[in-house]
Amino acid sequence: MILRTHYSGQISADMDGKEVMLAGFAHEIRDLGGIAFLVLRDREGMAQITLVKKLLGKDVFKMARSISRESVVMVRGNVKAEAKAPRGYEILPTEIQVLSAAQVPLPLDPTEKVECELDTRLDSRFMDIRRPCVLAAFEIESAVLCSLRDYFHKKGIVEVFTPKIVAAATEGGTDLFPISYFEKEAFLNQSPQLYKQMLMGAGMDRVYEIGPIFRAEEHDTRRHLNEAISIDLEVSFADDKDVMEILEEAVAGAYSYVADNCRRQLEVLNMELEVPRLPFKRITYTRALELAEEKAGARMQWGDDLDTETERFLGESIGEHYFLIDWPSSIKPYYTLPYEDKPEICRGFDLMHPRMELASGAQRVHDYSLLVERIKEKGLDPDGFEFYLRAFRYGMPPHAGWGLGLSRLVMTMLNLENIRDAVIFPRDRRRLVP
Ligand code: ATP
Ligand code: MG
Repeated sequence: MILRTHYSGQISADMDGKEVMLAGFAHEIRDLGGIAFLVLRDREGMAQITLVKKLLGKDVFKMARSISRESVVMVRGNVKAEAKAPRGYEILPTEIQVLSAAQVPLPLDPTEKVECELDTRLDSRFMDIRRPCVLAAFEIESAVLCSLRDYFHKKGIVEVFTPKIVAAATEGGTDLFPISYFEKEAFLNQSPQLYKQMLMGAGMDRVYEIGPIFRAEEHDTRRHLNEAISIDLEVSFADDKDVMEILEEAVAGAYSYVADNCRRQLEVLNMELEVPRLPFKRITYTRALELAEEKAGARMQWGDDLDTETERFLGESIGEHYFLIDWPSSIKPYYTLPYEDKPEICRGFDLMHPRMELASGAQRVHDYSLLVERIKEKGLDPDGFEFYLRAFRYGMPPHAGWGLGLSRLVMTMLNLENIRDAVIFPRDRRRLVP
């Protein structure tokens, strides 16, 4: 079936006289009596279809004029250079088919210039995504993934998939969604952490996974969802510094890929993308606290997770991506390796965008006895981690890795207000549909 030979963006005035077929949505119909304009919108933009009664005949003209907005249409016609038309061409149709008529009224108006409520938009997401600026963010997200996969592939990092239905918590937390799994209790996985580490014990050496993570936390923020896509990496015979370099290269690489390959989408979003400079600054947790206290009078206890005030101060004063390193061991998970000579701090790091955390990573504990000890110190029962701990008893390479939130990367890259703008069908405390 051929219903389209070109996207609107692939046609230009120099194709004058050529026959083309376009397919898309009836964006707008302007009726001027003996002549009417149908603006056809597809993924790449808009094309002006000029309907002339004399050329089309009375019946076709009448039918075309009465097409309801947002109906799906196919137009066959000839390109005509027309300086006054948007993009410098118009289409003189020889055939118009309505493939699927849209009912009236529309649940939301995709041509609407005024922003409507996020909830209304999400309720009718299929219609919302017809808006070019909404679609552009998801096309850019796909380009980000393409860039990351390409980068990993070039570095010899293998893509893997680990289970999302699991028997135990990664960090023993309560933030898990229980599910029924035949006669057993099971959960949706909060992170591929334990599995990717086991793959280091399997000799896979360098792996990445792009997949969903589930967090049953009742947060109500602009940067948390209950289901998110995480980009996870784990590398053997590497330390925290090595994987931080991979992380910053991957992030900066995604920016340049988007800047080079998504010009049209960036134009739709009316933005110029600045590629972050490498290397990102490294700031220790302790120094960050001192700075926040000296300069902003923040009062944080050493050993507390960064409060929003401190995070905001750091973001504003640094103004670009940075790494927070050398965290207190007490607030990083048990699998984070403490410094040998100073076990109260560890080789964990966070990648920060001035607005928020983008990724967390670490050099991991690969010594079996130390790992068991760390699990106990966190008040967890090593028996519950037997499936994981086994992989550490028969030879486990030293390794390091990280997890990066895809939507946070896209949201900060495109300066989107809410993480929900970077997720097609977001899942939060109140939203399970659509
Ligand atoms: P935060 O402190 O911002 O809640 P976290 O430290 O709990 O995040 P990690 O467990 O370190 O998150 O997960 C690694 C990355 O995955 C985060 O840096 C973030 O980009 C992403 N991520 C984690 N939880 C969520 C969530 N609920 N919604 C969206 N992205 C998330
Ligand atoms: Mg984190």
